[in-house]
Amino acid sequence: MAPDANTAIMPTDLLRPDLLRLNASPAGKEEAIREAAQLLIAAGCIDSAYAASMLRREAVANTFLGHGVAIPHGMVEDRGLVRRSGIAVLQVPGGIEWNPGQTAHLVVAIAAQSDAHIAVLRRLTRLMQDEARLTALFTVTDPAALAAALSEDTPVAAPATPGGDLAERFDWVVDYPTGLHARPATAWVETARASAARIQVRHGDLVADAKALVALLQLGLRAGDSVVVSAEGEDAVAALARMKATITRLTAREKADAAAAAQKSRAPVRGWTPPNPLPAVPGIAASPGLAIGPVHVLPRAAVSVPDEPVPLIEGGDRLHEALSLTRQNLKALADDTARRLGPSEAAIFTAQAEILNDTDLVTLACQLMVEGHGVAWSWHQAVERTAAGLAALDNPVLAGRAADLRDVGQRVLARIDPALRTGGAPDLPDSPCILIAEDLSPSDTAALDMARVIGLATAQGGPTSHTAILARTLGLPAMVAGGAALMELANGTPAILDGQTGRLHLSPAEADTADARAWIAREEARKAEEEARRGLPARTRDGHAMEIGANVNRPDQVAVALSQGAESVGLMRTEFLFLERGDAPGEDEQYETYRGMLTALEGRPLIVRALDIGGDKQVPHLQLPHEENPFLGVRGARLLLRKPELLETQLRALYRAAKDGGNLSIMFPMITALGEVQALRAACDRIRAELDAPAVPLGIMVEVPAAAIQADVLARHVDFFSIGTNDLTQYALAIDRQHPELAAEADSLHPAVLRLIRLTVEGAERHGRWVGVCGGIAGDPFGAALLTGLGVRELSMTPRDIPAVKDRLRGSDLSALKDAAQRALDCETADAVRALDGGAA
Ligand code: PEP
Ligand code: MG
Repeated sequence: MAPDANTAIMPTDLLRPDLLRLNASPAGKEEAIREAAQLLIAAGCIDSAYAASMLRREAVANTFLGHGVAIPHGMVEDRGLVRRSGIAVLQVPGGIEWNPGQTAHLVVAIAAQSDAHIAVLRRLTRLMQDEARLTALFTVTDPAALAAALSEDTPVAAPATPGGDLAERFDWVVDYPTGLHARPATAWVETARASAARIQVRHGDLVADAKALVALLQLGLRAGDSVVVSAEGEDAVAALARMKATITRLTAREKADAAAAAQKSRAPVRGWTPPNPLPAVPGIAASPGLAIGPVHVLPRAAVSVPDEPVPLIEGGDRLHEALSLTRQNLKALADDTARRLGPSEAAIFTAQAEILNDTDLVTLACQLMVEGHGVAWSWHQAVERTAAGLAALDNPVLAGRAADLRDVGQRVLARIDPALRTGGAPDLPDSPCILIAEDLSPSDTAALDMARVIGLATAQGGPTSHTAILARTLGLPAMVAGGAALMELANGTPAILDGQTGRLHLSPAEADTADARAWIAREEARKAEEEARRGLPARTRDGHAMEIGANVNRPDQVAVALSQGAESVGLMRTEFLFLERGDAPGEDEQYETYRGMLTALEGRPLIVRALDIGGDKQVPHLQLPHEENPFLGVRGARLLLRKPELLETQLRALYRAAKDGGNLSIMFPMITALGEVQALRAACDRIRAELDAPAVPLGIMVEVPAAAIQADVLARHVDFFSIGTNDLTQYALAIDRQHPELAAEADSLHPAVLRLIRLTVEGAERHGRWVGVCGGIAGDPFGAALLTGLGVRELSMTPRDIPAVKDRLRGSDLSALKDAAQRALDCETADAVRALDGGAA
């Protein structure tokens, strides 16, 4: 509906005097909603059951509009309970906590049969731009004044420059060498959000809510800038003290990081110098390496988002759902990336998820919707306006965040309306090219066809942008911040991109190209030497060889694992085939993936773990029941046995892949009891017979203390064990592996965990079975040394951990490792075990 289609009903019809209550003091949010609902019931606007509907909505959506205003309303399906449109306003001068850190002073309860209420809401959002006027309404004593302010539709004056500080304050001069960038700003936000007090940061005339990440970044604070941090409300003094502690505590780390970066930049740059000077576009080095080829300029994908207004309530629902689905998806991506690549790469997606919590961004989108715009359009506008603000700050760090914001914005957009999905594989020429783009999102970078893109140069972005980090991980030469000149290049222009010095050399002569090729050949020889060393077996000095595997989940990750020195894949976590998407892959799709893994491994062993869903790995589209304590609930094998359709599809795909050849083993997660093993084995035998497929080794993960203690019993029924030390540690020490405070104490080298590992090895040996470890401790060189001494035969880890583990084992003697393992078993504490490092192990 167009924004002005409801002029027939005047806001004054909706805001009758009997629907306004001044100076209310409800005890809490629920009471406020009930009180406002009561006004609507008394005025004949709603059936009394609608009050419960309003409360239900609070459980599924945030109705806080921002700036002290909340707009509770009922569920869409309960619209039948609305007899006629009306709006009740509860003025709460003392405020009530709507959500943690969000205080409402005006509770505007909506009963809407049509979109008649939009006029009032539009008025509200205008008032929100005039904070002084809005704040006055929180305490105004004349109901007519309140009604008039909400009804009149004259435009308000341009937003006043916000400049006032709150009651309590302190001054601070920014002493972070690179200014306030996303990492410290996130810490500020976390501290601010922990208090109920209102906290703001002012720089000159610019003011930001300290609980809003994007607003803080938009201040564009640089070293030397003066700011005032102020607070008011409950607990303001203590809240401010905590803010000050956080802000100043970060200084040392920021200075240390900047010094390290400066040191790195002083290291000699091993770039390429053309024999003859060439015209070049300078940029910032982002990922080392040299690429020779024609450029291909990617026109900026103009996303056209139609403005299709829907009823506000429906729009709110769609935005809420898209945000929560995107959050879940980013959590899965972060989780997978942390397990595969490491925590700093995973932080890319954690930071993106934080953007979704930014109240300013979400509020801006809501305000646009309230003004009568469509949900997709409003979200897109909110993202674009905010990103443009960040990009305009002329700060390379924040420029990188603008790309993140657009990337995450695009993810949400695709959830609101799948037809708006963009990105993915861009149109590329058939022969390899250097890709030029205005900016590229991390998702698009990860999806690049590496056979056709040999280098990447972007006009915008910064060296710490996540796109740059991903390019480094992918080994793709890249430069960023090349400026508008890059986009002017003609497609096909021959070029040499130097990712070490951050220059794109144009139109090289034959002699330049030959020189660059020679440089690449020298670099490749150096890398091959390094790789050859990684490829040597992990054989101890006294001749004991350990098998070293990689934990990877996709065929295209195998090559990197092999180049790091992996001899097999010891853990393929198949749940990530499910977690990163909105639906479950079918049998054929799974078969293709397993086949792809076996092909990429060229006969090397592959251990595929059957789905480990549940616990920290929730798959929303499977719609599993909510569990109070998911780590102790229906997880891993327990779920597979309760969901035969999941198990059978996966086993059929696996046995079909095994039929095509390769070296496949299957293992089952979260085994606790013998009955589970027998039931899973029976399913394997049946499906194998149906498909006339070959037998493959069947193993189990040892992750539950019960399985370790009964290893001698279980070993009779399986071909191998792989110990999941991440979970075994969590269950042995009773520490949630994701617990922010306790995680540091969950050390897999705790003697109690080592004793469980020893029991597992003894149980396996009794039946001639082998034991591997695929939890995180396998990738810790000291941990790997102790595990070898404990009798473990295979270690599987994140690819990048392999070279250091192999080096460590090659420098050790098995006999010394056995001694060290025995001493570790005898230790009293994890610290005592760690203290053994540096000794013979
Ligand atoms: C483990 O628990 O150690 C393990 C390898 O499994 P995941 O981390 O996937 O739970
Ligand atoms: Mg596990």
